[in-house]
Amino acid sequence: MSQPHYLNIMNTDKIFNRQNSTLGIMDDLQFCIHSYDGCGRGCSGCLVDKDLKNRQRFTGLLSNDTLQIISSRTLEYYDWVQQNLNTKNTGYFAKDAYQVAHYSYTMRFGNHAELPEEELFRLAELLPSKFRIFSTGPTQQLEKFIKLNQNYSGRLFLEIIYDPFVDKANDIKQMMLSMRENDINGYPELVLTQKLLSAFSPQRFVDECIAPLSGINAQMQLGRYAPSKTRNFNQSQVVDIDDEVNWLAEVSKIVMQQNYKISIIPLGEYAITLLDEYGESKALQADGTINESLLPEPEPLDLKGIKDKTRDILLTSLYIDQNMDVYVWSESMGQHVLDINYGFGSLGNLKNTSIQEMVSGKHNKIEKMLVEIIRNLVSHPKCAPCRYKSFCASHAVPLFRKSHNDNGKHCYGYIPAIREFQKNLDVLDFMVDNFRSLEF
Ligand code: SF4
Repeated sequence: MSQPHYLNIMNTDKIFNRQNSTLGIMDDLQFCIHSYDGCGRGCSGCLVDKDLKNRQRFTGLLSNDTLQIISSRTLEYYDWVQQNLNTKNTGYFAKDAYQVAHYSYTMRFGNHAELPEEELFRLAELLPSKFRIFSTGPTQQLEKFIKLNQNYSGRLFLEIIYDPFVDKANDIKQMMLSMRENDINGYPELVLTQKLLSAFSPQRFVDECIAPLSGINAQMQLGRYAPSKTRNFNQSQVVDIDDEVNWLAEVSKIVMQQNYKISIIPLGEYAITLLDEYGESKALQADGTINESLLPEPEPLDLKGIKDKTRDILLTSLYIDQNMDVYVWSESMGQHVLDINYGFGSLGNLKNTSIQEMVSGKHNKIEKMLVEIIRNLVSHPKCAPCRYKSFCASHAVPLFRKSHNDNGKHCYGYIPAIREFQKNLDVLDFMVDNFRSLEF
């Protein structure tokens, strides 16, 4: 029987052996591409642009010319990233730190399974990449994706939009197993809406939505619902942060107690990051709880260091809309486009500007975001005295306060839910292995 990696806990600051595992480690230059908006489903918290959703069914949004421009701008920016980020002395990416090793395209937001095969092929043909992800509704009709996988090099993933009011976890499980038989990977993605939290107690959610997916090396990505202009800034599905944190903490507690082997992202990833990169392993007690009085002294506040790391993360996760406008695509509880919904215009347009030009120079928009993130963290009554400022800076947490404030008991750090995950090192170890086998 193989030994868990955390057995040497007493001898090292790091609990997990994350060699060749990408859990909590960025090594990808990721581009989200607004490639399709059609969808016949009606999930609560839907991200699909309501204007395009039914007008442009079964037709991709991007012309050949547009795809060619995106591809060539991507390649030149990838080259720039490797020459300018991987070679620095400091930052998240640096000579002696993490490296950007590849780039990927995530095609969103519509149900790509309903696109004709030729359109999927056209996207793959004109956007060559080692890794390709398509958003889709659950389907057992995988022929198009299987053919796509057989005809184009690169790894194919499906991001399965899971609506627990309509979809059954067992059907999603079957879909994932069929995908794997055909060398396609993927994961369900679920939006945390008011409707979901009102109807599903944590126990019901675990029993119906998580338990059936345990034991098949599955991941589940959770995303926070955020109001958007394309949905008329509708607030009805927004979940109060205190309610969300309490619900997630209870869900996490049940999952850990039941020892369900499933990678719940981002919470599991955060749990490992805090244990191994923020020295929390030193405060871990035999019952799995963290003794906060044993936590190491926080590192002295190094604003330049926080800014440098956060900049690297913002620079390597970008969204390109159907008009070729470029925005930052931030990963926190789900991935969010930092656009007009958060008060930011585009970084620029690919027709007339390269991405490296957009992000260079002292006064570019990413620098403005960084100033705003840091200013908020050091002055916010909760964050100013908090040890997790650099962790939350890298997830652009302060910017989410613009859409919904976390001025109750809890905050966007989701610490109570993370603490539940830290109680089961077996499950966390499973997650590290799971991401090792995915190689992405
Ligand atoms: S959002 Fe919460 S966890 Fe993050 S720095 Fe602020 S107070 Fe700390």
